[in-house]
This record gives sequence, structure tokens and C-alpha cells, in this order.
Amino acid sequence: MKAMKVAVIGTGYVGITTGVTLAYIGHQVTCVDVDLKKLALLRSGKAHIYEPGLEELMHLSRERLKFTDAYAEAVPDADVIFVAVGTPSAPDGSPDLRYVQAAAEGIGQHLNSKFTVIVNKSTVPIGSGNWVESLVQSAYEAKNGKKAKGNFAVASNPEFLREGSAIYDSLYPDRIVVGAEREEALETLYNLYRPLIEQSFPEPAFQPRPNAMKAVPLISADLASAELIKYAANAFLSVKISFINEIAALAERVGADVTQIARGIGLDSRIGPRFLQAGIGWGGSCFGKDTAALVSTAKEYGLSMPIVQAAREVNYRQRERIVEKLQRELKILKGRTIGLLGLAFKPNTDDLRDSPALDIAQRLIKQGVKVRVHDPIALEQAREQNPDLAVEYCQNVMDLAEDADAVVLVTDWAVYRDLDWEGMARLMKKPLVVDGRNFLDKRRLEKAGFQHVGVGTGTNP
Ligand code: NAD
Repeated sequence: MKAMKVAVIGTGYVGITTGVTLAYIGHQVTCVDVDLKKLALLRSGKAHIYEPGLEELMHLSRERLKFTDAYAEAVPDADVIFVAVGTPSAPDGSPDLRYVQAAAEGIGQHLNSKFTVIVNKSTVPIGSGNWVESLVQSAYEAKNGKKAKGNFAVASNPEFLREGSAIYDSLYPDRIVVGAEREEALETLYNLYRPLIEQSFPEPAFQPRPNAMKAVPLISADLASAELIKYAANAFLSVKISFINEIAALAERVGADVTQIARGIGLDSRIGPRFLQAGIGWGGSCFGKDTAALVSTAKEYGLSMPIVQAAREVNYRQRERIVEKLQRELKILKGRTIGLLGLAFKPNTDDLRDSPALDIAQRLIKQGVKVRVHDPIALEQAREQNPDLAVEYCQNVMDLAEDADAVVLVTDWAVYRDLDWEGMARLMKKPLVVDGRNFLDKRRLEKAGFQHVGVGTGTNP
């Protein structure tokens, strides 16, 4: 394999994972960020996010990895430049592309005459490839006083990693999608990803290759299709989760058990068992913003997306349903003390974006509840990021349980399954647990003295 020079703009969850993975498979990678604090940590060999395996892989790739805040150090030499900056939601649901714009302009100012592929790895709406191309072109022209002629091409390479298993997903992806109009760009990306496609890199000891792993399919598409693949994938998964949550609501009414229903339908190979866990619903930085962006893009083209829109409504309703369950059990919420187990939007990450727990905490506070929160990893971040949130941050689950009227399992961190539930039941005013992920062992909890209320498990409408 010919090692390439790669620049990655943005070292967030996606950028750092991309940079480290590409360095691990043999490329020379320079990561660029505007956040000097992140860069200082990364230079010292430490990850600025909680992501299993990231620091280990960084360590194994350290000779091929550089970190800088200067585009001039990364862009001119690069064969491939990834844009991996954030694309958060604007208030109207459309993606806020100001970071992508700044990155494209920074790239345009520092490109030289050798052929470079600029890759949108950020999730960006349809048409962004052409837009980025024009931004790079204008910035290049402003700097050099002439047009950049054929020395760059823009491609799309959407990212499908899951936070919490980002390293695994990057080394062993289900597929790689690349989109471009110019054949040379697709060829360059094929060569870049060849060790991943052929799985020819040495497997790291801490992240072994799955037994059934075969060559990774590479989907080469046009730009617009590649851009839409990412939104379609996230929307489909969101719909699947909301679908089972809708069934869960009916299951509760008729006294059925949604976990049995999910198993019954999930074993049908046309449906598949994943993303059929009823519960509080999705959170995080992607599903909410990407479904909103898809609906917003469709609207621009005169289309509505009723299925995706409904999935969003069902999802955000799930959070209110948890409050309703508590109200049903406790009758009066005002003055109660309720503990939330888990703040990160899912286990094995410290990401708090669109965190269902923080949303539920706010809803409960509005009802006059005294809210306590715990998370094995994200507690301090939550405190820092939410200085005005009037909750009690508990380092210890027992402090959260003491004299509490109920606890809610919000994030299915593995450690919560084996808590000292007997001890907690003794400490609580009322040993009530609302299991927002149907994650806990109901029988064990009942033996420990708890009343266990799940989602869609029939016993508790
Ligand atoms: P993030 O917010 O964690 O990281 C973005 C990084 O870009 C930050 O470190 C920020 O400082 C940096 N940045 C901002 N402006 C910059 C600039 N002008 N130059 C250099 N750096 C700059 O975001 P993320 O979660 O990594 O997501 C990045 C993109 O990938 C988004 O479009 C997202 O939708 C997409 N994506 C995310 C995930 C995920 O699980 N997080 C998965 C797939 C796709």
C-alpha cells in the first residue's frame, strides 16, 4: 500500500476516530482543530473524549499522527483532506453549516497545485459537495489571484460509526460509502481505504477482528446519493426505534410484553432484531438532528416526510411518558425526590448531546421534583455543561438512592445491572424503579424489594 498524506479537519468524535484509524492502517495524518485544549490533550497522547480503545490505537499510531491548529501545516501537502467538523441543528431544524464553511475556506486558502481530494465526512445536506467546491474555489482564488484548475475534487464519505464502539466500527465497518463526480477522486479514496477494504492491517490485540469478517464492501456513488445514504440510514434506524416504541405503548394498554413482541418479529430475517428495544428512545448528536435536517431538506424541495416526522414525535413523546409513569405510581410529583441513573445518551460514551436524561430532569424539575443524577463517566461534563440545571450530582449511587421516592434507569450502562439493589431498596423511601430501557432483571429487582416498571411490558400502562 502507498501511504498517503491525510489532513483531518475537526478532531471531535468522528474526526479523531478517522484520523487515528487512518494513521493506524499506515497513512501520515495531520489532525486540525480550533480547540487548543483538545489539541494539547491529544498531543500528550490522551483522548479528549471517552471512547473505548481510542487511546490505545492513538498510542499504536503515534508516529504517523500530528495535531495542529494551523491549516498551513496540514493542507498543502495532503493527498486527501477530510472535513469532520460539527453540523448541529439550527433552530429551524436545518443543519448549521458555518463550521463546514470555515473549514472549506481554510482549505481553499492553503491548497497548492497538487491534486487533492476534499472529503465531506461531516453529515451534510444534499448539494453540500458542490457548495464546498465553490467555497474552496473562491478562497483559493482570493488567495492566489487565479482559479484552481483541476487540482482538487470534492467527495462525500459519510460516517457510520457508533459512539461507544467507534474504533471497532472504523476498523471493521459494514460498508464504506464514497461519492464523487470525478473518477480520480473515487480511485484515490479506494487506495486510501484499501487496507480496510481488504482487512489487510494487523488486528490490534484489544480490538480483535470479528471471526466472520470478510472484505468490506465499497459503495461508489454519485455525490448526491452518498450524501443522502447517510440521512436515509439514520432516518431508517430512528423509524425502527420509534416503531417499536409505538408498539410498546399499545402493548401496555392490552397487557402484552413488547420484549416478547420484539423477539417474535426480530427473528424474521427481513426485519432483524437490532434497534427493536423499546424504551426512552434515541438521543445523541445524530438521530435528532439528522431526521430534522432530512425533513427540512425535503421541505425545500416541496416534499413532506410524514414517516420521519412521526418517528421524531414518537421519540420525544417517550421522555414525557417516563414522567407520566412516575406520576401514575407516585400520584403527586411535587416535593418528591427522584434519582436518574445515567446521563450520557447511551452507554460507553460521555456524549450528552440531546441527552434524554437531561431532558427528563428538566421536565421533573418543572413538576417540583428534587432530581438527583448519576453517571459512571459523564457526571462532571454534565455539571460543567449545565451550570444552571438544578439537580444534585451524585458520585455514588447510594447517595442517589437515600430517601428517594423512585429511581429511573435512563442509560443502560452495564454497571447498573449489578448495583447493590437490595441495599438501595433499604435506603429508599419507596423502592420504585422505572426501567426506561427494559434493561434490568425484573425478577431480581422484585426479590430485592423493588416495584419494577418497564416500558411496554404490559403490567403498567
Ligand atoms: P464534534 O462536535 O464532536 O467535533 C467537531 C470538531 O470540529 C470540534 O472538535 C471542533 O472544535 C472542530 N471544529 C469546528 N470548527 C472548526 C474549524 N473551522 N476548523 C477545525 N476544526 C473545527 O462533532 P462529531 O460528533 O465528531 O460530528 C462531526 C460530524 O460527523 C457531524 O456532521 C456529525 O453529524 C457527523 N457524524 C457524527 C457521528 C457521531 O456519532 N458523533 C457519527 C456519524 C457522523
